[in-house]
Amino acid sequence: MSTSNDTSRGQKRSEACLNNDTQVTTGIRYQFDFERYFEHLVDVSLTFTAATDSPQLWLPAWIPGSYLMREFARNITAVHYQILDSQTMSSEAQPETHRAEKIDKHTWQLPQVKAGQAIEVCYEVYCYDLSVRTAYVDQQRLYGNFTSLALAIDGHEHQPIQVKLIVPAAFLADKDEERVCLATGLDSIDLRLDGQYCLALQVDNYHDLIDYPFEFAEQDKFDFIVQDDKHQTLSHRFYISGKHSADMGRLQQDVTQICQTYVDWLGDAPFADYTFMTFASGNDYGGLEHINSTSLITPRRDLPSIDEPAVPNSNYQRFLGLCSHEYFHAWWVKTVRPDVMLDVDLRREAFTPLLWVFEGFTSYIDDFMLQASGV
Ligand SMILES: [Zn+2]
Repeated sequence: MSTSNDTSRGQKRSEACLNNDTQVTTGIRYQFDFERYFEHLVDVSLTFTAATDSPQLWLPAWIPGSYLMREFARNITAVHYQILDSQTMSSEAQPETHRAEKIDKHTWQLPQVKAGQAIEVCYEVYCYDLSVRTAYVDQQRLYGNFTSLALAIDGHEHQPIQVKLIVPAAFLADKDEERVCLATGLDSIDLRLDGQYCLALQVDNYHDLIDYPFEFAEQDKFDFIVQDDKHQTLSHRFYISGKHSADMGRLQQDVTQICQTYVDWLGDAPFADYTFMTFASGNDYGGLEHINSTSLITPRRDLPSIDEPAVPNSNYQRFLGLCSHEYFHAWWVKTVRPDVMLDVDLRREAFTPLLWVFEGFTSYIDDFMLQASGV
């Protein structure tokens, strides 16, 4: 990633940010602008009111469910900010742009800021990693985990957050609009303005924010419901993006059967709705669990073909096993959690000898439930 021209670029983006309604700085607001998707860059604007002098911003070094240090902050080169005090807001003068000071691998400080001042922070994130734990943007799909995209405000992690995703008209130009949608475990409000999409999301705090990955792309989709032991219906959504020729009917039948078998076994579920987000790729494979969703990446050959035998071949079994594994994690790891994960600081390592319980037991159960569900 090029690091030249940081200051001028940061200033340019800040001016662009100021031209929209992020000037209203009540609460914490993030805006993710995908205008530069072809460069694999996301322009972020964050507005908030500082509670202390010289506030600090930080990005997680790892993401729950993927137990290695990832140092997501390496994809952010420079952070700039402006103080939006009432004087500059009422006059025509542009507020001065400052460059934040990086004080360690994943922390930036805003030294000019005093407690009570409204701030706008702007930065860009390089998003070109296909894995389910980071972020990826190109002309085909806009995908992200907020652990890669949203700088947390130190001391404000428990405050409610509003998020806007801005998708330019150019991204939609070559796509079938009937199939383009946002896949996420959150409810979103979608607005279409001058050809561009604005998707609004809301969460209770930063820890919730990072548990909702999203994908905006052309998707194939089906819905199904599962019933718990009190006859409550739990709605489920299943999305696939990327090139594939999967038999969606077969997939719906098998995944529904697996999910219903889990809920029959466990009685109820820790979620009211659940979303499977799958990206069909050439060879990549992986999954990450979230409280009411999972993000999966699979070789397209693992998806069921139109002439899939009644007993799935080993490739398709592997994909069903992945769905089964991540779904069980909604109970085991996301709800029944290791103590080190209860109030975890994602800036540093959390040591536990219990990974064999969280991952090993889950791996045993995922296969067992394919058998038990009869798929
Ligand atoms: Zn796992």
